[in-house]
Amino acid sequence: MNELIKRAAEDLVKSKYAISLTGAGISTESGIPDFRGPSGIWTKNPDAERKAYERYDRFKRNPKEYWEERLSGPSLLGDLEKVLPNAGHDALAELESLGVLKCIVTQNIDNLHQRAGSKKVLDYHGNAFILRCFSCNARYDLKEFDIEELRRADQLPPVCKECGGVIKSDVVHFNEPIPSDVAGKSVEEAEICDLMLICGTSAVVFPFANLPRIAKVRSRTVLIEINAEPTPLTEEGISEYLIQGKTGHVLPNIVEEVKKLPSLP
Ligand code: NAD
Repeated sequence: MNELIKRAAEDLVKSKYAISLTGAGISTESGIPDFRGPSGIWTKNPDAERKAYERYDRFKRNPKEYWEERLSGPSLLGDLEKVLPNAGHDALAELESLGVLKCIVTQNIDNLHQRAGSKKVLDYHGNAFILRCFSCNARYDLKEFDIEELRRADQLPPVCKECGGVIKSDVVHFNEPIPSDVAGKSVEEAEICDLMLICGTSAVVFPFANLPRIAKVRSRTVLIEINAEPTPLTEEGISEYLIQGKTGHVLPNIVEEVKKLPSLP
């Protein structure tokens, strides 16, 4: 593994525009379960997966009921306010501050990249601390609405201050289209990058899993995976190499190797 860590550091330093794609695996070491790993939420509780697939339809059918359901029980991922970024998040933030990494496109909704200090983060599947207008895509900090108070006053769902549209969580539910602004910017990043560091994702959720395939079209783009297990990107030869291990171990080691190399940008 050490040789591959050195190789990744060299590839990163040589690159002109490196980006990272991240998935639930990078946050498991913060105590947030993933979906499809061995201890994943779907792996252990397939019924939770069925319910998650119904959430978007429920919102479209009856937004008030959707909000009441959200208030009625704990989130699948636990209390995201209480978790902290781990060494993997910190390492990606450091690569950005060193000028080596230009952007993170994450599937995670947990806000941990931002809390670790990463500046350019695209929340491909939304962010649990943000609300989004279903009509005009206006985003609001969760704290701008007192959802409990709206429930007490029988005024759910919340409505957009810009256009009066219905507000949902920014989190993209299954079968919900990716908001066009984030989808477009993410494709642009995949098209211009010359290195993609793909961390902690099973790469089976589409359209996110198209981003490495878009990057691959440019033959000189280097695609590196860091994951606990091989994925379809590994098996189909889309990634050039896999560093099999935990992101909280591999990424900080890559940062150390990057710092030893002479030609930082
Ligand atoms: P996934 O659950 O499908 O796959 C996670 C992958 O990461 C697996 O291959 C697993 O083996 C690997 N992994 C687990 N821990 C790891 C570690 N410490 N180091 C390296 N690899 C590790 O996750 P996904 O591909 O991101 O797709 C799941 C979907 O669910 C995403 O769309 C995401 O929005 C959502 N989700 C988000 C969170 C979060 O915000 N933290 C958590 C669970 C699910």
